[in-house]
This record gives sequence, C-alpha cells and structure tokens, in this order.
Amino acid sequence: MSEEIRVRFAPSPTGYVHIGGLRTALYNYLFARHNGGKFILRIEDTDRTRYVEGALENLINVMQWAGLEYDEGVFLDENNQVIEKGPYGPYIQSERVKEGVYKEYIQKLLDEDKAYYCFCSQERLDNLREQQKADGLMPRYDGLCRGISREEAEERVKAGEEHVVRIKLPANKDIHFKDAIKGNLSINTSDMDDQVLMKSDGFPTYHFAVVVDDHLMKITHVVRGDEWVSSTPKHVYLYEAFGWEAPTFVHLPTVLGKDKKKLSKRNADVSVEDFKKKGYLRDALINYIALVGWSPDSNQEILSHDELIQQFSFDRVSKSGGVFDEQKLDWVNSQYIKEMSDEDLASEIKPYLLDAGLIDENVEEETINELASTFKTALNRFSEITSLAGFIFENFEDKNFYSEVFQNLESEEAHTVLKTLKNILENEEMNEELAKTIMKKVQKETGIKGKSLFFPVRSALTGSEHGPEMLHIFMILGNKGIIDRINFVLDNF
Ligand code: GLU
Repeated sequence: MSEEIRVRFAPSPTGYVHIGGLRTALYNYLFARHNGGKFILRIEDTDRTRYVEGALENLINVMQWAGLEYDEGVFLDENNQVIEKGPYGPYIQSERVKEGVYKEYIQKLLDEDKAYYCFCSQERLDNLREQQKADGLMPRYDGLCRGISREEAEERVKAGEEHVVRIKLPANKDIHFKDAIKGNLSINTSDMDDQVLMKSDGFPTYHFAVVVDDHLMKITHVVRGDEWVSSTPKHVYLYEAFGWEAPTFVHLPTVLGKDKKKLSKRNADVSVEDFKKKGYLRDALINYIALVGWSPDSNQEILSHDELIQQFSFDRVSKSGGVFDEQKLDWVNSQYIKEMSDEDLASEIKPYLLDAGLIDENVEEETINELASTFKTALNRFSEITSLAGFIFENFEDKNFYSEVFQNLESEEAHTVLKTLKNILENEEMNEELAKTIMKKVQKETGIKGKSLFFPVRSALTGSEHGPEMLHIFMILGNKGIIDRINFVLDNF
C-alpha cells in the first residue's frame, strides 16, 4: 500500500488571514482531498512577540467559513473554546514547547556535534552585521562560538549565561532538493548561515520547529508560499542531520497585486475578512482564489467545490506569480450570484440595505425579493446593492439627486420623451408586458430614438446614466414612482 498523503497548513496567527494564506490552505486541502489524504491545521506561534489576542479563534473561523475542513489540529468546541484533535498533538507549537517536544531533539543535535551553544550578545551580533554590510558581505554569523569546547559551553549554560543554540553547518557542502514546482534546486553551505535553532527564551525558531513537527506529524508534502523556498535548504540539512526522510516540497507562486508586486496590506485589501465584508460569496472566492496560480486541464473558469477537488494537481500550478485581480473575482462572483434564488439573494442583500438606512426592519419580504430579482444580473457583489438600488429609496424631490445627469433632462426633446411616457402610464397599469414594450411605444409616438430617448428616461428615474435594465426600473418603481419622478423633473429642469 502506498503511503498516506498528509499535508498541513501551518500559519502563525497574526490576527487576520491573508488571501495568499487562504490559497495555501486551499491547495493543501484540495491536494489532500484529491488523494484521499489527511489535512492538518497546525499553529506556529513560537514567536511570542507576535502574539495577537483572538487570532487563533479568528483563523479557525475563517477556515470554517471557507469550507476547508481539516482532519487534525485545532478546532473550536460549541463554547468557542480552542480544542485539539488528532493522534499527533499537541498541534499548537507553544503547547509543544511546554511538553518539551523540542528539547529532546536539540539535545540530540548537540550530542552529535551537529549544533552548538552560542553566547554572543545582541550587541556583538549587531556590530558584526553592520561591519559585514559596510564591507559589502552577506550578513551572517561568523562562527565565533563554534570554537568553544563542549565542557566549557555546558558549564557556562549551567551557570545561567544567556545563550542560543545554532546549527553547525558542515563546510562547503552542496544541499540539493527537488521542489515539485520549481524543479531541482541546490545551494552550498558556504552561502548559508549557522541558523539559530533554539532562542534564548528556550523557544525553538520556526526553522527548527517546522522540521521536527513535520517529521513527527508524518507530513508527506510541505505545501507553502514561495517566500519559504530560500529557507528550505536549512530544513533539508536538518532532515539529513537527524537521519530523517525529507517530505516533498511544493512552493507556491507568490500572489501578486495588479502592479505585479507581492499583494500586501499597503497596496490593497488582503485579508479574507475584507472580502467577506465586501459581500463576496464563499464559493466564488474559493473558486477564484484556486485560479490564482493554477488552472485546470479543462481551462474551465467556474468550478464547484467538487470539481476543484477532482481536477486539482500541482502539475498545473504555474511557476511564476499569480495575479490577484479583483475585477476577475467580481466576474466570478457575479456568475455565482446569477445562480442564486431570489429568496437567498434577498437575505444576503438585506443587511447592506439596512446598514445604509435605505430600508428598516419592517420592510416587506416581497419588496426585498423584488429587489433581488431586479438587480441579480447587475450585481457583482452584495454590497453594490446600496449604490445600485439607492435611487429607489433616496429622496428624488431634491435637485442633488440629479446632480450628475441634469444635462440629460433640460432639453425640449427630453421633456417630450418624459411627457409621452407619463401619458401612457396615466392610462395603463405597469406590468411585465408593458415594461418590455413601453420604450418602443414612446419611440413610435415621438420619433425620438437611441441615446436621446433612453438617457432622459434613465436619468429622470434613477439620477444616473447607468444601472439595471430599464425593464427592471419600470417594474420596481411602478406607475406612481415613475410619474412622481417625471413630474419633479418637468417642474424643475
Ligand atoms: N508559520 C509559517 C507561516 O506563517 C508557515 C510556513 C510553512 O508552511 O512552513 O507562513
């Protein structure tokens, strides 16, 4: 039987989930599900200076919201308390520190002379770095403490002297590894640093903990962002030093903004929570994010959850960065909105309308359903409903309502069009049939067509040149709504 595939998403909880992190989690998830393997959520919180209250709960909630179910790791129970499940726990690194998991392995490296105690002060390290920079050299540790004998080092440690533990890299050794996306990579140890493995507070560094944990948790594929590829030789060397088999490494192309720079908080919205708030559908966001750096064989762009699982493979992950394009996301989202029932869409848009004060809690269900059906094809995301539907609720008996379109309303021709429309509605009740044909009727009666026909009507009814189809505008405003607006325009422009 072939080995069971085990992958993990191992974020450091920072208080929000970056869209690139969501993609890493998603690819791990898809790969695990495609291969019938296991997906693990491990928390890498050994950098205590970066601790953020509530970050863990938030992270778990995002995973749950995104539908990325995992088999082992940290979960929330019904009282919202963090719990851990799985045979290889604990899954929170700070908990693992408490259990002494890493100590044993540090000791092993020290005993085998593959690591050493370093007593250099921060001041010395800072000066060294400055000097190296000034000399145009790569800043790295100069190996001063490598020369201290084991006995002396242990005595100094016993005496309570502050220290870290560093890896003892062999001189001039090529470290090779194969990345599933980038192919064969190698680096010589002369271009590497004697990395700190254990900090002075007794906590392991990321580089040490990640190797120990991936090994103990039987991870077969390390799937993570590109930014870790340069650290991988350190990890590969550690596997070798321990005599462990290294997992397969899969480094995913960076998620770029439209400016082709790494998508960062500085140039865009980057957190999953931001996209949730803006009114993107979960399935649409997941569908789109899967396509940032990957495409299926079929080149399909709209893929359900199950189709993603079926079609996902690392073979079609691109080597270069994937551009995160919000307009493309809008398009994918609009495709999902079109498939929603009026009732479902109504319940999604209602909170936005309430928030904007456009409706109150007593609003009739019918009205919201009507809005949902009216704007379904025009919406890219739920939050747009307030600007699209604003004209229905805003006070049109105020010239400001028309501030962007008054030029369309002043001509004699515009008045003729509006009067003709009003005339028809004084004799006929609005219904779908009439809504579909009424513009033709106005055209026939007035002989006016094209922009000169449509702009005055759209402008008078909505205060804008753009928006939903005329048919929908007529239906939602009804006879009274239309006639009232036309009267105001005829009197004031
Ligand atoms: N804790 C690392 C992060 O925050 C995980 C890197 C890895 O997956 O090895 O991204």
